[in-house]
Amino acid sequence: MKNYGLYIHIPFCSKKCDYCDFASFCMGEGDQKAYLNALLKEIDLVKDSFKSKTFDTIFIGGGTPSVVFDGFILTLSKKLFSSFKIAKNYEFTIEVNPNSFNEQKLNEYLLAGINRISVGVQNISDKIINGVGRLQTRANVDNTFKLLNGKIKNVSADIILGLPNENLSSVKNTIQYLLNQNVTHISAYTLQLEEGTPLENKVKKGLTTIPNDEAIVKQYNAVNKLLSAAGFIRYEISNYAKPGFECQHNLKYWNNVEYLGLGLAAHSYLNGTRFWNTAVFGEYIASISKSELPKNKEILTNEQKRTERIMLNLRTNKGIDLKKFSQEFGENLLETRQKQIEKLKDLGMIEIKNGHLKIAENKFSLSNAIIMEIL
Ligand code: SF4
Repeated sequence: MKNYGLYIHIPFCSKKCDYCDFASFCMGEGDQKAYLNALLKEIDLVKDSFKSKTFDTIFIGGGTPSVVFDGFILTLSKKLFSSFKIAKNYEFTIEVNPNSFNEQKLNEYLLAGINRISVGVQNISDKIINGVGRLQTRANVDNTFKLLNGKIKNVSADIILGLPNENLSSVKNTIQYLLNQNVTHISAYTLQLEEGTPLENKVKKGLTTIPNDEAIVKQYNAVNKLLSAAGFIRYEISNYAKPGFECQHNLKYWNNVEYLGLGLAAHSYLNGTRFWNTAVFGEYIASISKSELPKNKEILTNEQKRTERIMLNLRTNKGIDLKKFSQEFGENLLETRQKQIEKLKDLGMIEIKNGHLKIAENKFSLSNAIIMEIL
């Protein structure tokens, strides 16, 4: 039996970025206190159901977890460790944004048992970052890495490709900068132009432009080249790590391992069923105060599980374990999808090695089309 993962959502930010449609709000200490109390109560409401389970990853994500008032994270962590069985070799991550991170927070996180920090860098150019309404400056980013240096070994950075004004050289500069900071993990996501966001409006009105697909593929290729030369492995479509520094928590999502999500809009996957909490702040607080879990649920059909397994497994560099897949779904993919698999193999797009079917490393940029073909 695999150990579980634990995700806690912190839905607060200092300011909404122009491209963001996540569940996050700009709220003060009063609302943050109400939210912390609700989180502590949610833990009390669920903990008995997890008495026999062990968690080996904890991930505090957002929003921006580093904006909450001092003491919030330590109180939360104490509650987690006293309510759930946490494995000795746990991975405990918190996401921070450079403009709300400081020495006091770092000390609080160390006391809380946090051993992995994920920094929202996106790009190191102030012009690019300010252009999408993010508050941070390059000086904030420098200060964040200066503080982390030597204090935490497992440091990840998020970058976004395809931001307005982002070109190949600004992406390369950002990667080189991060390598100089000795980060052990980089997540590189492509900008998604979400409907109704200020950035989408600006693009629609022609007030700004974003790089086209061809430019983004070039940016990805540059990221691949620099990171692979520096000894990083692309272990998932958007994630690169030095060997041994893969994010154990995120691997659970891609490998169908169960996880519990706490807090506003948090998702859980337990016993083949997906649960998710309301994304409405007032509803979350009100429901927990009545001791009701604001969880919606969906029991996955076998067909949905099959689709998810193929899609998520193929995102990773390990691919689909064909034996496990056949045990779970009673389907030998090499037979049922023989024609498609042969074709993709002949085109050099997939590989079958050691009982695993995976996307060829240099074809990750075509993953959507390859996955659709195999489904
Ligand atoms: S910091 Fe992250 S969660 Fe907050 S508004 Fe910006 S993109 Fe959204």
